Amino acid sequence: MTVIDMPPLTTAPVTATGPQPELVTTRTKTSCPYCALQCGLVLDPPARGSDEVLTVAPDPGASVNRGTLCIKGWTSTALLNHPDRLLGPMVRTAAGELEPATWVEALDRITTEVQAVQSKYGPGSIAVFGSGALTNEKAYLLGKFARIGLRTPNIDYNGRFCMSSAAVASQRALGIDRGLPFPLDDIQNADVILMAGANVAETMPPLMQYFTAQKRNRGRLIVIDPRRTPTARLGFMHLPVRPGTDAALANGLLHILIRDGLVDETFIAGRTDGFEAIRALTASYFPERVERITGVRQSTLLRVAQMLGFAKSVMILTARGPEQQSHGVDNSSAYINLALALGAPGKPNSGYGSITGQGNGQGGREHGQKTDQLPGYRSINDPIARQHMADVWGVEEQEIPGPGLPAYELLETLGTDDGARAMFVFGANPVVSAPNTGLVAERISDLDFLVVSDFFMSETAKLADVVLPAAQWAEEDGTVTNLEGRVILRPRATDPPGDVRTDLQIMCEIADGLGRGRYFRYDGSEDVFEELRRASAGGTADYSGITYERLKTESGVYWPCPGKGHPGTPRLFADSFPTDTGRARFQPVAHWTPAEETDEAFPLILTTGRVLAQYQSGTQTRRVEKLNGMMGTPEAEIHPDTAAENGISDRDDVVLISRRGSARMTAKVSKAIRKDTVFAPFHWGGDRAINALTNPALDPLSRMPEFKACAVRIARNYEDPIGTGQNDAGSASR
Ligand code: SF4
Repeated sequence: MTVIDMPPLTTAPVTATGPQPELVTTRTKTSCPYCALQCGLVLDPPARGSDEVLTVAPDPGASVNRGTLCIKGWTSTALLNHPDRLLGPMVRTAAGELEPATWVEALDRITTEVQAVQSKYGPGSIAVFGSGALTNEKAYLLGKFARIGLRTPNIDYNGRFCMSSAAVASQRALGIDRGLPFPLDDIQNADVILMAGANVAETMPPLMQYFTAQKRNRGRLIVIDPRRTPTARLGFMHLPVRPGTDAALANGLLHILIRDGLVDETFIAGRTDGFEAIRALTASYFPERVERITGVRQSTLLRVAQMLGFAKSVMILTARGPEQQSHGVDNSSAYINLALALGAPGKPNSGYGSITGQGNGQGGREHGQKTDQLPGYRSINDPIARQHMADVWGVEEQEIPGPGLPAYELLETLGTDDGARAMFVFGANPVVSAPNTGLVAERISDLDFLVVSDFFMSETAKLADVVLPAAQWAEEDGTVTNLEGRVILRPRATDPPGDVRTDLQIMCEIADGLGRGRYFRYDGSEDVFEELRRASAGGTADYSGITYERLKTESGVYWPCPGKGHPGTPRLFADSFPTDTGRARFQPVAHWTPAEETDEAFPLILTTGRVLAQYQSGTQTRRVEKLNGMMGTPEAEIHPDTAAENGISDRDDVVLISRRGSARMTAKVSKAIRKDTVFAPFHWGGDRAINALTNPALDPLSRMPEFKACAVRIARNYEDPIGTGQNDAGSASR
């Protein structure tokens, strides 16, 4: 066995004029690098004379996207040979500049600095920050890299900011966290779907065909959202809920269902525990009160409850709207309670599901890059799980560290006496994607040493001491797990350009430099996956029956798949729930106001989200011309009455201001949003970073920040229409 198959290290730095990949000659079937739908693609050799590396088209045989792609998928190969691509390592010099370096120089610098920090502050002084965009192999190896390579407990990832609330709520109520515990096909046959805080028409357009099929089948879609989004416009009903009030809304619907005898008493008695506490709790959520809290009319609540209560099959879906709140677990739990009371989980075309966002948001949260977790969705505090992993890794159980700090706490303590002094970042851009980015950027700047592995010079990479150029999705083998829990193979279609390495190679090389290479000897991605199979065996997310060979011939395998002959598990909960008793557990959850309420100085509620043309922190999509042509700068959606009160017209430059910071946007005046709410996308950095405003108040269980509700004001940006930000915004943020 050798350290993962790495070409010889170069002795000269490679710059933007470095070698280009070999021409591709064959077709590759793969999946999109962006969101959790993981649409099937075919990549073909480019036409003669074309400057493209690969051409892209939907895979007509892919069952997920059925021959369609969104604009991000259609433009996904544009970044493979983008002129901004990092083609060789960069190292910060004594003069403070990032300069091209060889791999030998970059890796030597990492070894020296990590050893210096660890000898001064101890092994836990190194933090590792991962991503829901990493393949299963990378997410798995990153957990091992942190715990065995660096011997630190402090690893967490940006998925903490995405799915963590629904994950906790699902685990405690249903015994397992798989975003959708049923296949996508079930959507089109559901009688009534209640969807809270998801705008799939813009964030996952190919998914809409399932909802339009449901509509054709005479099904009803009810959308809960503060905005009348394109998804809400396609629905049968829209409930314009006040941000931060989802638990009250779900409790209010359950109040009516119980009052009117529309709950499934047989299912409740036979398959659940804890309903009496729900009956007592929801008794006080009478419609008048719920209308006052949520802004949704009593008549609407009654109609929705009746539609749910009389439906042949009910599906309840949540996404980041209710989940990205400081009471995100409670909000998700309230919707799960509703699903359980209606007897939905485990039945065909029914159930509760959370729509995962990031490309490998599902697999990325199963195999150990969460600070409290070991591979296979095991708890790091479980002695049996720890011994299992010690056996797989060939170490003593005591050598595996315990839990470290969750994502936001990890970031906000960097460089302080309570936090890490050095950090590795793989595939994330927390300077843009974390809440309260002003403070996070300060903390990252306070580090003794920062290493970032990325495709481009992101806002976070610009602060690094060493920047390592990483291979993109089409340049390496790997697997991802989509929002249905379906494991998919993403094979390599072309070689990486320049002196680019895969993240797996990078982790192995760094571990080798630190004298831990004996634990990191692999013959490629498939070899890492083989270890992941052994690591996950017997765990909740059991991949032990899944192999690369199998994934080449099957269009994905749903986990759990506990043996090679096992068919996989498309639908969960048919007979029992994976809890100690086999029964689901109701969780009584009350409504709490958001951590920060509006007042005279900050009278509006800010809610954030994604738009069609951009993705996550924008490191990739902000470099694609076609996408920037659709939305190249952020637009703040504001109701006409609120705009008039603030002297704002459509397309004005505006500044949004909270107690933590400010951001510049273009006003989009629209009746599609509540008067008390402003919406802004989070894909931009610098003075357009909306996360400079967001509230880092955390959910007590999931440690999810409150991205979806904080108090702001909005003003016309009179003095500075183009972009220095040194005006109203500047003074407000001080
Ligand atoms: Fe890619 Fe998601 Fe668009 Fe499909 S919906 S093409 S997976 S970004």
